[in-house]
Amino acid sequence: MKMQLGEIAKAVSAQNDTSAWNEIEISSVAFDSRHLTAGALFVPLEGERDGHEYVQNALKNGAVATLWKADHGEAPTDLPVLVVEDPLKALQALSQHYLLKINPKVVAITGSNGKTTTKDMVAAILATQFNVTKTMENFNNEIGVPVTILSMEPNTEVLVIEMGMDRPGQLDFLSRLVEPDVAIITMIGEAHIEFFGTRDKIADAKMEITHGLKEDGTFIYDGDEPLLVERAKKITQRQRTFGRSKDDDMYATAVKDTDTQTTFTANEWPDQEMNVPMIGDYNVNNALAALSVAKLYRISPQAVAKAFTNLNLTENRAEWIDGSAGERILSDVYNSNPTAVKEVMAAFSKVATHGQRRVVLGDMLELGDQADALHAGLQTAFDPQLIQDVYLVGPHMKALYTALQDKFDAAHLHLYGTDEQEKLMTQLKADLKPTDIVLIKGSHGIHLENVLAALQ
Ligand code: ATP
Ligand code: MG
Repeated sequence: MKMQLGEIAKAVSAQNDTSAWNEIEISSVAFDSRHLTAGALFVPLEGERDGHEYVQNALKNGAVATLWKADHGEAPTDLPVLVVEDPLKALQALSQHYLLKINPKVVAITGSNGKTTTKDMVAAILATQFNVTKTMENFNNEIGVPVTILSMEPNTEVLVIEMGMDRPGQLDFLSRLVEPDVAIITMIGEAHIEFFGTRDKIADAKMEITHGLKEDGTFIYDGDEPLLVERAKKITQRQRTFGRSKDDDMYATAVKDTDTQTTFTANEWPDQEMNVPMIGDYNVNNALAALSVAKLYRISPQAVAKAFTNLNLTENRAEWIDGSAGERILSDVYNSNPTAVKEVMAAFSKVATHGQRRVVLGDMLELGDQADALHAGLQTAFDPQLIQDVYLVGPHMKALYTALQDKFDAAHLHLYGTDEQEKLMTQLKADLKPTDIVLIKGSHGIHLENVLAALQ
């Protein structure tokens, strides 16, 4: 971005006299003093640490101005500073100002699973015809969304933005902030059920993504999810569904998968085979959501197919990695929840191998009271004909361990505490043969990426 400090002062309702600095050029915003580019405006946020303590550091690293919270003691006088009521709100207000100024079309994406994947697919497809800015990695919350907006090049025509939530009200806020032209809900699962209690309430919270949807905008959602179909009846904007049923506006036929890719054709374009370079039937749904956007923006089926082939995906989403013993590892260590485990297990169980299929699963976090039941419920995903060895990590996995004892004998079923990863690695290294395939999945907080790193 490119803005003068005077313009920013107005957008964030700065309380101090900034006239001496109004001409300073700002080229980015940053809230981490260690990661900023020259010309940045520093935004001191109060999280685990207080960002105000890092203002000097930010300046040393190239920041040229800073925000400062009004009730946070004396503001520094020796540097360009904008005193604001609340730096986070100022960041959000500034992003809204910049968004209105650049005025791209906005595609906003939420859902219990598949947000990042769908975001990457939509961005790749639209980039065949437009200048696109998309959410980097997973910056999908009340800080990440404004930072993404402010990262837009001035020539951006479409902004593809991921929106996460773990509380009611979050998506209401983010949706009203960006006023999307297209709002997508990929699916409703059980992620964060700890805070919501039921899938109904999760669906209610996800629907908030439509609160800021423009009147002439389009709501795209999983048409096979009754909770969404029911709620969509109240939406006045145009709607498009995707899924596996012939009642959906965009549905897949002829789905075929191999261990590295999934192919299908969509009803709208029966002559064009789509080839997604990812394992897992569930990615067909993410692709169908993306195709619904493609259709809306009149991208040709050939261009879409090409975009899928060249897809640039975010790391650790069902990604094949070579292990040092020659084994192949399906790394899905970024996050975990019951639907995601069942989906990826179904895909993994079908992958051909001359060796053993081994599964390393870490706890699924944030499931609240239902944690043990939901962990135990994963046992349906384990077919001992297809999976030979199971390694479980974390206290909640005890419930799954118990549930699997009928299916697996003790030599092939292991349980570890979260702090016993060394022991797990020793066992794995002893067991692994070059012909084996290994699935590794767990919530980010269990840090199975360490196991992955040790095996590489
Ligand atoms: P986060 O909430 O962490 O941002 P996300 O919604 O962005 O997650 P992705 O990163 O796209 O989701 O995918 C994470 C994992 O969720 C995948 O590796 C896969 O296991 C599972 N997953 C992705 N898409 C779907 C889907 N449509 N249905 C079920 N599971 C899915
Ligand atoms: Mg994500």
